[in-house]
Amino acid sequence: MILRSPPQAFTICGSVIMKKLILITAILILMCCVLTACAKNSGDGAVELPKNLNEYEILISISDDLRTLDLKQTITYTNTESKDLNSLVFYLYANAFREGAEHTAYLSRPAGYGGIDMLSVTVNGEKVTYSIKNTTIMTLSLNAPIAVGEKALIRFEAKINVPVCNLRMGLSANILNMGSFYPVLSVFENGSFREDIYSRTGDPFYQEIANYKVIIECNPALVIASSGSQSSETFGRSYKRVEINAEGIRDFAFVASYTFNVLSGEVNGTDIFYYYPSSDKPPVSAFETAKNTLKVFNEIIGDYPYPSFSLADINFYYGGMEYSGLVFINRTATDKEAIVIHETLHQWFGMVVGSDHVNSAWLDEALVTFLSDYYYLKSGNSARFKTLRGRAKNEYDSYVRLQKPINPETSLNFTQSIYAFSTAYEYSMAVYTRGSLFFDNVFSYAGEKSFDKALRYYYEQNAFKFATKESLLTAFRVKRKDIGFMLDAWISDSVVTFKQN
Ligand SMILES: [Zn+2]
Repeated sequence: MILRSPPQAFTICGSVIMKKLILITAILILMCCVLTACAKNSGDGAVELPKNLNEYEILISISDDLRTLDLKQTITYTNTESKDLNSLVFYLYANAFREGAEHTAYLSRPAGYGGIDMLSVTVNGEKVTYSIKNTTIMTLSLNAPIAVGEKALIRFEAKINVPVCNLRMGLSANILNMGSFYPVLSVFENGSFREDIYSRTGDPFYQEIANYKVIIECNPALVIASSGSQSSETFGRSYKRVEINAEGIRDFAFVASYTFNVLSGEVNGTDIFYYYPSSDKPPVSAFETAKNTLKVFNEIIGDYPYPSFSLADINFYYGGMEYSGLVFINRTATDKEAIVIHETLHQWFGMVVGSDHVNSAWLDEALVTFLSDYYYLKSGNSARFKTLRGRAKNEYDSYVRLQKPINPETSLNFTQSIYAFSTAYEYSMAVYTRGSLFFDNVFSYAGEKSFDKALRYYYEQNAFKFATKESLLTAFRVKRKDIGFMLDAWISDSVVTFKQN
């Protein structure tokens, strides 16, 4: 994620006039998607999709007014843990939009509340009982244990009430944002399923890679931007049916609007789409930046592994939000270019290379914040890179000088969990800004060549898995740069200055 006004805010260059602006219709989008639904060709820098993943099959029917969704979801789950399971834990993030919820997604009363009402829950065809605690954590009590190595079919039928707000899930000015809306299986770790309480600070999500087949039924005029590849679109008298396939993704999200237009292009075999409301000017410059970000980091880190990548300009409280194959961009942001680079980079770190966003948010956020500026160095604009990194340092220095004396308890340790920070500002300064200064330090110490090699190794070794602090340190150690002592110094707060590269 990126907050609304990151410290590195700047104005998008408005002088670039693209001679060939291609606005394609929904029919052309479909043609592109059908042609590219197969997996990308493997090549140098390609990472392999894992086998035997859990399978999510989701059927969604959207009401014409975009306020309710009927959901039928089947998960083919395989118990790959070391013990038989008597219960399963799922997250119902949509419940954070309920009126009176204990842990809410909204800061102030939204124009309309939302939530997910479970109508039926079965495991292997039999009804099971369930309980919900802390707003979003649902535990299914199984009638019979799922033995090690066994498969189980878990079915949910639910009605989702869409809140009226401009958050990860919500309807705002005719744009439907649908992030983290469906029941998501929790991660089994250290002998039990994780039960992470929803938090407005940070991204309280920790999800495993899975395969998704999603069918969306909706009004034929609705334009949908989604994770994965839209492999077919069929039309009935009063509805259309969109089929979406996504292999090896961390989560599924979509946005929809009756007024979306789209820019389309292709980068290294990946189809790229930029959706935007038809009342807005086409985001040509942001689209070019997204394409260039894919190109630059395919080269440095390794290939973006999916056949398509979509961006969508939406009504959004935050600057942007990442999902596998789809990113949300705040349509009115003045620093849209920075947001586009940041969210696109999350495809590598946060999505393909997963990490614990609850307890180790810095692993993706601090790295992505640094790399968003590193993009300029790699695009031949070293002056901009230095300016932006200098700005980050100044922002942080000012924060320490002005805020720390007011709140001496303020935490500067960027490796803490999202719950440790008392405000979003404190979280942002510690994890994004100070965390990215640590990577300045790493970059200065390792040098550009070793830094790039370590990043590539880190990506290749941890693609489709969860990376940890140790995985990052190992990647640098393998490339003969031990950064463990440096991280220790930053964690213990003994670093007060850093060397500008
Ligand atoms: Zn982010």
